Amino acid sequence: MNIDSIKDGIVIDHIQAKKGLEIYDALKLGDLDCSVAIITNAKSKKMGRKDIIKIDKKINLDLTILGYLDPNITINIIKDNERIDKYHVELPKEIVNIIKCKNPRCITSVEQELKHIFVLTDKEKRIYRCKYCETLSEE
Ligand code: ZN
Repeated sequence: MNIDSIKDGIVIDHIQAKKGLEIYDALKLGDLDCSVAIITNAKSKKMGRKDIIKIDKKINLDLTILGYLDPNITINIIKDNERIDKYHVELPKEIVNIIKCKNPRCITSVEQELKHIFVLTDKEKRIYRCKYCETLSEE
């Protein structure tokens, strides 16, 4: 794969610098059978430094996890070397089975089959609380 261009695929842009690998792991991009490039510390007018991930294939991205990890990310869809779509991820209002409640007395600790659901309670501060016991999520 040419690092500078992909013919058909996805570019995940405006990732906070040094966070590219975390995003790569969270999306399990290592399991894909296509080329994936991580560019770290790229220069950015807007951010100073940023990371970029280029995926040489159209895959279904988990936007919930992207929004939770880094709501400033932008997604570019590339087709025939042209950008045909671009969108921003958003802080998800609810995240399911991504983080686990740390409260040992929470019902999710007792009832193993329950989904771990966290709800956004403060958008400014990016605070999530367990839906069942209101324990804060931990970074
Ligand atoms: Zn809980």
